[in-house]
Amino acid sequence: MTARIEEVEIVPTFIGGKWNRPRASSYTNVHNPSQGKVIAQTPMLTTAEVDAAVQSARDAFPSWAALPVPKRADILFRYRTLLEDSMESIARLIALENGKTLDEARGDIRRGFEVVEFACGIAQLSKGESLAQVASNIDGQTIREPLGVCVGISPYNFPAMVPMWMFPLAIACGNTFVLKPSEKVPFTAVRLAELFQEAGLPDGVFNLIHGGREVVDALCTHPEVKAVSFVGSSTVAKHVYALGASHGKRVQAGGGAKNALIVMPDADPDSTLRAIMGSSFGCAGQRCMAGSLLVGVGEVHGRLRERVMASMESLKLADTSTEDLAEMGPVIDGDAQARINQVIGRVAAQGAKLARDGRQYIPDQGFFVGPTLIEEITPEHGIFREEIFGPVLSLLHPQNLEEAIDWINRLDYGNGATIFTNSGADARQFAQGVKCGMLGVNVGVPAAMSVFPFSGWNDSFYGDLHMQGTEGVMFYTRQKVILSRWDSNYQRHQGW
Ligand code: NAD
Repeated sequence: MTARIEEVEIVPTFIGGKWNRPRASSYTNVHNPSQGKVIAQTPMLTTAEVDAAVQSARDAFPSWAALPVPKRADILFRYRTLLEDSMESIARLIALENGKTLDEARGDIRRGFEVVEFACGIAQLSKGESLAQVASNIDGQTIREPLGVCVGISPYNFPAMVPMWMFPLAIACGNTFVLKPSEKVPFTAVRLAELFQEAGLPDGVFNLIHGGREVVDALCTHPEVKAVSFVGSSTVAKHVYALGASHGKRVQAGGGAKNALIVMPDADPDSTLRAIMGSSFGCAGQRCMAGSLLVGVGEVHGRLRERVMASMESLKLADTSTEDLAEMGPVIDGDAQARINQVIGRVAAQGAKLARDGRQYIPDQGFFVGPTLIEEITPEHGIFREEIFGPVLSLLHPQNLEEAIDWINRLDYGNGATIFTNSGADARQFAQGVKCGMLGVNVGVPAAMSVFPFSGWNDSFYGDLHMQGTEGVMFYTRQKVILSRWDSNYQRHQGW
C-alpha cells in the first residue's frame, strides 16, 4: 500500500446507485503491467464503507427479492446484450490493467458473459419440486428463496470472469450483492457495474467497494451478510472460510492450485504441444488452471522436452496494451515478478535444474518473466508442491501412468489435471485415479464452463457448493419444504 499520487485517478466506489471517488488513508497502485507504470490508485477503504455498502444492499433486498422472476431475468437479458456490445472495449481494459494479451482478455470476458447467459434462465433454474400425495391427502412442494445480502471477493488474475462467477447468479436468484474486486484490477469491475446499472438494475442491488484485509474481514463478519463467495490464494481462502463460517455465513472459497499435464507416448504431438503452451504460458501462467507440472511418461519425455523448449523460444513477449498480436504478456506487478524470479533463483539450490531461465529473455520495460522450464525435478522437491503462479513449467519423468497418478495425488491442491493420450483405457484410469476436481482428456485447460460447477478439491476449495452451474443456484438460495392438506373432509368442517 502506498500514499496518494495527486496526478492519477482514484478508482470509484458504487454504493446505492451512486458513484463516488473516496479519499482513503492508503492506496494500492493500479499498473499497466506491460509498461510498469501507475495508471490509477485504488482507495483502501475501511469498515465505514463496508457498512454503507451492506446497508444499501440490505435496503434494496426486499423489493428486489419480491420482483417476479421473469422481470429479474429481463434485466439480465438487457445486461447480456450490453456486455456483448462492450466485449471488445472490456477486453482492452483487461489487457491494460491486468497485462493479458487481447485474445486472453477476450476469453476472460467471454467466460464471465456465459455465466450471465446461464443466469438469464433463472426461472427454469430456480424452480422447486413437488410431489402430490406424499402422505395421505398431503402434497409436498419445495421452493427456493434468496438469502439476502451476498458478498464477493475476487483475485486479480481474471478481472471479469471470477466476479461474474458470483454476482450475476446471486442477483438473478433475488439476492443483493457487494463486490470487492482485487485492488490491483478494479476498472473491469467498475465497467461491469456501470453496464448493470445501464441495464436497469435498481439502486443498491449491486454495490462495489475496494480494500484489503480490513474490508474483507468486515464483510465476512457483518451481521447483515448471509453468504460469502471468495476466490484467491489458499491462505486467504482458508482464512475467509473460517471467519465467515464462524460468523454463520455460507461460504464458498476457491484457493490456489498446482495442475499437472500428463503426456503419454501415444498422444498426438502437435495438438498436445499447442495445448501445453497455452495452458502453461497463457495469461503468463497466472491461471488457477494453468499447467504447472509437465509429466512426460516413459519414452515421450526426451522428445517432449525438445519440442517444448523450441516453442518457448518462439513465444513473442510484448506490451499487451499496445500490441494486439502479443503472444505473452507480463505478470501483474513488480512484487509478483520479484517473487517468481526468486523461485527460479532457488531451483539449483534445491537440486533441480533450469533448462530455460526466463529471467534472461524479457522486454526492456514492464513486469515480464520469460517462459521458464525446470527439469530433473521429483515429488521430493519443494517446487513440486508450491504454486508458482507465473510462466514456469516443471518437467517430470515417471516410468508409467501409475507412477504419474501417484505423484499427482501427493499434491495438496486439487483443482485440475489433464492427460494427453489416444488410449481410452489410459484416459479412464487417469479419470478414476486422480484426486482432483476438474480433469481434462486432451484438453489443456479443463476449466469448467458456466453450466458446470467450478469444482476444486482439497486445498483448492473450502466449502460445499462450488461456483457456477446448479451448485451456484443452490449456494445462493435456500429451500422451503411446504406440506399442504386440502382434502374434502378438511373443507367440510370449517368453523370452530
Ligand atoms: P489473493 O489471495 O492475494 O487475493 C484475493 C482477494 O483477497 C483480493 O480481493 C484481496 O484484496 C484479498 N486479500 C488479500 N490478502 C488478504 C488477507 N490477508 N485477508 C483478507 N483478504 C485478503 O489472491 P491473488 O493474488 O489476487 O490471486 C491469485 C490466487 O488466486 C492464486 O493462488 C490463484 O490460484 C487463485 N485463484 C484461484 C481460482 C480458483 O477458482 N480456485 C481462480 C482464480 C485464482
